[in-house]
Amino acid sequence: MHSLFDDEPPVIRVALPVPLTRCFDYILPPNLQNAYLPLGARVRVPYRNKTLVGVVMARQVSPDIPLEKLKPLTEVIDDASLLDDHQLALAKWLARYCHGPVGEVISMMLPAPLRQGAAAHIQEETYWMATQSGRALEPEKMHRAPKQAELLRALQKHQQPVAATMLRSLGFTSTQMAALEDKGLAERYLQSRHLEGRDHETRSVLAEIPLQLNDDQKHVVSEVTGQLGQPEVFLLEGVTGSGKTEVYLQVIEAVLKQGRQVLVLVPEIGLAPQTVNRFKKRFSVPVMTLHSGLNDKERLDAWLLARDGRAGVLIGTRSAAVTPFKDLGLIVVDEEHDASYKQGDGIRYSARDLAIVRGKMLSCPVVLGSATPSLETLHNATEKRFQWLKLTQRAGSSVQLPDVYLHDIQHKKLTNGIDGGLLQVMRTHLEQGGQVLAFINRRGFAPALMCHDCGWVSDCPFCDARMTLHREPPRLHCHHCDSVSAIPHQCPKCFNSELKPVGSGTERMEETLEQAFKDWPVFRVDRDTVSKKGMMEKLLARVNTEEPCVLVGTQMLAKGHHFPGVSLVVVLDADGGFYSSDFRGLERMGQLLTQVAGRAGRERRKGKVVVQTHRPDDPLLKLLAQHDYSEFSRCLLEERKDTLLPPYSFMAIIRAEANQSDLVSGFLTDVVQAAEPVTSQIQGLEVTGPVPSPMERRFGRYHMQIWLICDRRGPLHQGISCLLELISRHPLQRKVRWSLDVDPQELI
Ligand code: ADP
Ligand code: ZN
Ligand code: ZN
Repeated sequence: MHSLFDDEPPVIRVALPVPLTRCFDYILPPNLQNAYLPLGARVRVPYRNKTLVGVVMARQVSPDIPLEKLKPLTEVIDDASLLDDHQLALAKWLARYCHGPVGEVISMMLPAPLRQGAAAHIQEETYWMATQSGRALEPEKMHRAPKQAELLRALQKHQQPVAATMLRSLGFTSTQMAALEDKGLAERYLQSRHLEGRDHETRSVLAEIPLQLNDDQKHVVSEVTGQLGQPEVFLLEGVTGSGKTEVYLQVIEAVLKQGRQVLVLVPEIGLAPQTVNRFKKRFSVPVMTLHSGLNDKERLDAWLLARDGRAGVLIGTRSAAVTPFKDLGLIVVDEEHDASYKQGDGIRYSARDLAIVRGKMLSCPVVLGSATPSLETLHNATEKRFQWLKLTQRAGSSVQLPDVYLHDIQHKKLTNGIDGGLLQVMRTHLEQGGQVLAFINRRGFAPALMCHDCGWVSDCPFCDARMTLHREPPRLHCHHCDSVSAIPHQCPKCFNSELKPVGSGTERMEETLEQAFKDWPVFRVDRDTVSKKGMMEKLLARVNTEEPCVLVGTQMLAKGHHFPGVSLVVVLDADGGFYSSDFRGLERMGQLLTQVAGRAGRERRKGKVVVQTHRPDDPLLKLLAQHDYSEFSRCLLEERKDTLLPPYSFMAIIRAEANQSDLVSGFLTDVVQAAEPVTSQIQGLEVTGPVPSPMERRFGRYHMQIWLICDRRGPLHQGISCLLELISRHPLQRKVRWSLDVDPQELI
């Protein structure tokens, strides 16, 4: 054995899903020393007293500990790389970016079955198709085998392979199928169920004729397609309904024609089945989806089909950003400003930012689309790091943008959250046959329950927050810790029996509107109603009949939908952003209002938007009402510049929590103080805190944070490393739960 060690020690380095930022060395047992073990393949190894699945990161390493002390690996799972060089490089990049263990990053990249060691094979099913001679033969001539004749007739009806399961359900047996095969009349194919119905033969990628583009769209398509194969990032800023999706489709067509693949990221799939259908209808290549609504096996299939190059287009939510591709030629990030692209726990990455990194690594263009780009992206476009493309007009039959009215509710008495005058406006639209959308960004019946005698409110026992009153089913529910309790019949403090709901949520608004409009149906759309599978599709089908109705819902309704019959949009609570403790509050408010308004008048009717506000004279709100998101965002950027907040600086937050507040504050104070000699020397770095989190007590635990802000990324990461090093050595680090968030999107 020793001679082998001399030139090539059979030691491999494996990334394991454990919370330590290093990899682990294992020795190959003699029976595996000649095995081919490629980088990126999975192995099973002993770790502590368990067996874990890890990924080979390096071969022939010189171990840090003596060879004799190394444990042998248990099993080689893959005989080829599961992850290619690009995936491994991406994992390493992400691990560096979030100062996390590469093993955990890789584990996050894998669908659950692969994480657990399942085989990386697509499950294939048997399909049958008539051969040329099978098509030429008249089944009637097969007198002696009437059942086989019938089967042949069934196969002749299809130009594409038919699943054996399908044939069996029609009463045919495997013996009959095999008999046709023996006679050379039929042949079998193995293929994934997902590729069913896809034509193997045709070269064309299109299944329908694309729309004729307008001049603006043509310009955008030619700019992007002119730079395929280049690591360019494009910001496609297009007002709602300006035909961005059509632009994506035509750019994608060009990439597919090169035989390459496309990744399309969307904020949420379940809510926008229309968009996915548009993609599926357009292309004859397989269009797959990847999102949390799939089961493990479906996710695995989509992942493998993308990796093997068999999925032409993959449409997915955040987690799809790390899917491997055989030959990725384009990434589209739709609604790039959407907060759901940021992973909020574990490996905290932004799918949009990761898409940009991948584009650079793979030399493929990335298109970021939005009607309301994030300030980060706008800043990058202004600084010419991104190419800025614009669509300023609505496309197709969508008419002009709707008129927006700021409806003053100062000193007005609202009934359950809505002004009486507005109800009248809604009625007029319904009478004229229009549909009405009402937005209120709170689910439940009311944000709190209160006793007007003694002032008791339904505080959550575990959080610095109120419990929301729900009617369906009846309960008090804390939306922060998810604790639920029964609705008290009397005040727990003074025993007064009259408890009153305070404010309104979607349930109460639904009730109010139902009472106001007895002649028209009212539908509610929020997380509680659409959680049922297929519910959203059903509702959309109903709305698409364009019969007058009222839709009341949360921002879920604002996302990407195309409601042709909506003529009036009412925004009931617009002012939230003004009171937000988050510096992104106003940006979010502007994006939401613009998106919401974009739901009005998408077809023949010119739409109208009414916004209830206590600040009708606010200059920022006025800009939004004039559809001037550009000027609105320019003003916000000015403010960010003055205060040196992102995108004019880079930021990271270290959060910590424990069941006692002095434990957290002691821990973070120690770390900040011990780091001070180093961090104070890092130019431009500012370390603030510890400060209590906006909602300090959550689920009975106390939350505090440290902010790191710096004008350059390098020194920011230097500062982070210094603090994390001290944290890892702090005696309390096991009692306190902590995490790092680079480029945080929420400050809570
Ligand atoms: P966005 O993604 O910007 O909201 P869409 O691509 O959904 O916009 O387009 C809005 C509407 O305009 C859709 O009904 C679409 O079919 C239509 N449309 C887009 N481009 C064109 C075009 N060039 N000609 C005709 N109709 C178009
Ligand atoms: Zn009371
Ligand atoms: Zn709570």
